[in-house]
Amino acid sequence: SGETSLEDGELDALRAGFRGPLIGPGDDLYEQACVVQNGMFHRRPALIARCSGTADVVDAVRLARDHDLLIAVRGGGHSVAGHSIHDGALLIDLSAMRGVDVDPQRRVARVQGGATWGDVDRETQLFGLAVPGGIVSSTGVGGLTLGGGIGWLHRAHGLACDNLRSAEVVTADGKVRRAGPEDPELLWALRGAGGNFGVVTAFEFDAHPLGPTVANGTAIYPAADAGQVLRAWRDWASGLPDEITTRAVLWTLPASPALPAELHDQDVLIIGAVHAGHVEDGMTALEPMRRFGTPLADLSGPAPYTAVQQAFDPFFPKGGLLSYWKSLYFRELDDAVLDLLVRRGRERPHPVTMLHVPLLGGAAGRVPAADTAFGDRNADYLLSVDANWTDADDTARAVRWVRDVLAEAESMPGAAGTYLNFSGEAVLDPGARASAYGDNLERLGRAKARYDPHNRFRLNNNIPPQG
Ligand code: FAD
Repeated sequence: SGETSLEDGELDALRAGFRGPLIGPGDDLYEQACVVQNGMFHRRPALIARCSGTADVVDAVRLARDHDLLIAVRGGGHSVAGHSIHDGALLIDLSAMRGVDVDPQRRVARVQGGATWGDVDRETQLFGLAVPGGIVSSTGVGGLTLGGGIGWLHRAHGLACDNLRSAEVVTADGKVRRAGPEDPELLWALRGAGGNFGVVTAFEFDAHPLGPTVANGTAIYPAADAGQVLRAWRDWASGLPDEITTRAVLWTLPASPALPAELHDQDVLIIGAVHAGHVEDGMTALEPMRRFGTPLADLSGPAPYTAVQQAFDPFFPKGGLLSYWKSLYFRELDDAVLDLLVRRGRERPHPVTMLHVPLLGGAAGRVPAADTAFGDRNADYLLSVDANWTDADDTARAVRWVRDVLAEAESMPGAAGTYLNFSGEAVLDPGARASAYGDNLERLGRAKARYDPHNRFRLNNNIPPQG
């Protein structure tokens, strides 16, 4: 089907019952409602249906079904590839559906489809619980979970999608379904290939005892020492218990009031870690990462979990950066890969561009590939090449740099596949799709044929219906 054009008569049916605002070009709310996280995208949907609940989502999906409209779905609006905003589309906007309800006895959090991780942390921490999410609190639960979800707790408690017990989903036929024991195939598909199967109006997650204080490691080393520090980090990381999740980040610290003045504009290698167990034991376990060299600053110490979750927030203002990211898994970190990081780290195209290397494995690594759509968990590291910049004139250079680094990294020992949530463009190439989902791809194609045979949900890392 082609681009959406909405005739007034078609909209009447939607207007009749819809509780949230229907926002079109010319409406007061429209310009603001078009802003997404990635400042690369200035697109104009035909209509933004800001749903107030599941019934609004059903009406919007039925309208799209009846009139063959192109659907975009937006949760937290953080899609690096711009999946959640599209010219001419009917945009199903979940940003008014952010309720979080915690059952402390069952340790379950029920989260509406448009909530952010900040919303989840705030409510779960009230009961000393946490759900594994991401590392920036304004990121949406929806896209992050449906594409996997790595953060500070994935080694202790698995990926976000591994903690998804059930979900309420509006599928392309306009029906409300429950993914879970009632429909295990739909739950399986949501855990990693999410956006393809419908609009998730509510997620139910397992929550884990954690906080309010956690052991946090933040050692900031000069980039000039990156070669030595990265080797020490890799050797330490290879023997860690599940409680510790750690990452290395090559970056230039911004001149932000959130940081001590002496750190402003410094090229650095940040070694970050969270220990998800007993706080004192955790601080002891994190000691080695504070002595890989001489840190410029060591901000390690017991910290509120919510503060750790928000530590990167000031550096990612909504719409304030243009971004293009690509990533590559590594089964091991050979010295050649570390050398590449050091060299490419020096020639980042903009100070806010980063090379980000989370350690995977632990609980996230033990889930068999066939158990969730997400697939293979054998890689222990991810290299994410995250170009961020501020001036549209720099776009071509930044994008070219990311592609160059990826091309070089792909030829290195241990390189294996890509993390779809960190992709700056839709992954539509069959080879890339196969490498992301592996043997799960065929089953996903059949599930797509069952739940979305006409491929209405296609503004995503799309899985074509099969068979
Ligand atoms: P949106 O742009 O709203 O949605 C993206 C797509 O997801 C939609 O187009 C739709 O296909 C689907 N979708 C979203 N919500 C729903 C729903 N309720 N039902 C059905 N489909 C839905 N990823 C990590 O794993 N860990 C991180 O630590 C992390 N940090 C990030 C930090 C920043 C600053 C940014 C920009 C991204 C980060 N990401 C991280 C990547 C993130 O997982 C993806 O960008 C993800 O798509 C964001 O989800 P969202 O709901 O905010 O996105």
